[in-house]
Amino acid sequence: MKENNSNLNAKQEQAIIIGAGPCGLSAALELQAIGIEPLLLEKNAVVHSIYQYPTYMNFFSTAELLEIGGIPFTSPNDKPSRREALQYYRDVALRRQLRIRAYEAATAILPQEDGAFRVETSDRFGGKRVYETPYVVVATGYFDHPNLLGIPGEELPKVTHFFGEAHPYTGMKVAIIGGNNSAVDAAMELLRVGAEITVVYRGEDYSPSIKPWVKPLFQGMVNKGNIRMIFSSRVVGIGENTITVQPNDQDSESYTLDNDFVLALTGFRPERTLLTDAGAEVDAESTIPTFDPETMESNVPGLFIAGVIAAGREANEIFIESGRHHGELIARRIRQLRE
Ligand SMILES: Cc1cc2nc3c(=O)[nH]c(=O)nc-3n(C[C@H](O)[C@H](O)[C@H](O)COP(=O)(O)OP(=O)(O)OC[C@H]3O[C@@H](n4cnc5c(N)ncnc54)[C@H](O)[C@@H]3O)c2cc1C
Repeated sequence: MKENNSNLNAKQEQAIIIGAGPCGLSAALELQAIGIEPLLLEKNAVVHSIYQYPTYMNFFSTAELLEIGGIPFTSPNDKPSRREALQYYRDVALRRQLRIRAYEAATAILPQEDGAFRVETSDRFGGKRVYETPYVVVATGYFDHPNLLGIPGEELPKVTHFFGEAHPYTGMKVAIIGGNNSAVDAAMELLRVGAEITVVYRGEDYSPSIKPWVKPLFQGMVNKGNIRMIFSSRVVGIGENTITVQPNDQDSESYTLDNDFVLALTGFRPERTLLTDAGAEVDAESTIPTFDPETMESNVPGLFIAGVIAAGREANEIFIESGRHHGELIARRIRQLRE
C-alpha cells in the first residue's frame, strides 16, 4: 500500500468518479438520481477526450445515442459535430451542478481495512488532496494513451498522435500511419489544403471498419492518385525529412520517402494502473478488467468501472453509445448496497 499523502486529512465523499468523460458524467447523473452527489475528479476539463477530437469532426452516432441522464441532445444535423457535443456535455454538467474538480488527477485508489477507499489526487500545480469514500467509479477512458509505434524518430516534433485540423499541413508532405477511420478522415481533410498525402497501412486491403459512406470517396481519391495508399507496410523509422517504410513481406527491402510531418493515427489503449494498483484484476491476454457485467463492479467490492476502461485492448468495443449505460448498472448496485 502506498504511503503518499498519508499525513493529509481525508475529505469524506459519498462516491467518487474518476474521469468526467461522457461515461463518467452519465454515472454521476445516475448516482444523483438515487440521491448521491458524487465528486468527479477530472485531470483536464470536462469531456477532454472530445475536446481533443479533430476540430471539425462529426460523430458517427446520432445525437440521441449520445444522450446521458435522459437529457435531450438535439442537433439540426444528421450527426452532431464535436462542437455541439462539447456544448451538450458542458451544459449538462453545469445545469445539473455536477461537482467536478477539473485539473485534479487521481493518482491512487487505496482500499482501506473497513472496505472504504482513500483516493489521492494531484492538481496541476502539484497540490495534493485525499478523499475517503465507500464507492469509487473509474471512468478514465483511453484517449490519453496513444498506441505508440516504438520506432526511431517517433519523439520528433513533426510527429503527432492527435490530428486537430488540416491547415498547418498545407502544401506539406504528410505521412499518415494507420488505415482506420481517423486516418481516412484526416487524409480526406488534408486533401482540401493541398497536402501531399501518403497513407501507410499494415493491412492488405481497406479496413472493414471504415465508415461505409466515406469509403467510396476515399477509394476514389486513391484511385485518382490524389492520395498515395501503401498497403501491407509499416513505417519503421522517422527522420527529420524522411520516413522509412518496410513492406510486411520481409524479403522486400525497406525504402525511404521524403516527408515533412507524420500523423501516427494508430488508436489508443486504456491505462489500467490506477485499477490494478487498487487490487483490480485484469486479464493478461485481453487486458479486460474483471467485472460483473450486471453491476460493473470489479473484483474489489465497491470499486466500479464505467465506459471505455471496461473494454479490452481493442478499445473500440465500447463507445459512448454503449458505455453511457454503465452508470445505470452502477447506481442500481450502489442503491442495493445502501439498503
Ligand atoms: C475521433 C473519434 C470519434 C468518435 N466518435 C464516436 C461516436 O460517434 N459515437 C460514439 O459512441 N463514440 C465515439 N467515439 C468514442 C468515444 O469518444 C469514447 O467511447 C468515449 O470518449 C469514451 O468515454 P469515457 O467516458 O469512457 O472516456 P473518455 O471520454 O476518454 O473520458 C475519460 C476522462 O477521464 C479523464 N482522466 C483520465 N485519467 C484520469 C485520472 N487519473 N484522474 C482524473 N481524470 C482522468 C480524462 O481526462 C477524460 O476526460 C469516438 C472517438 C474518437 C477518437
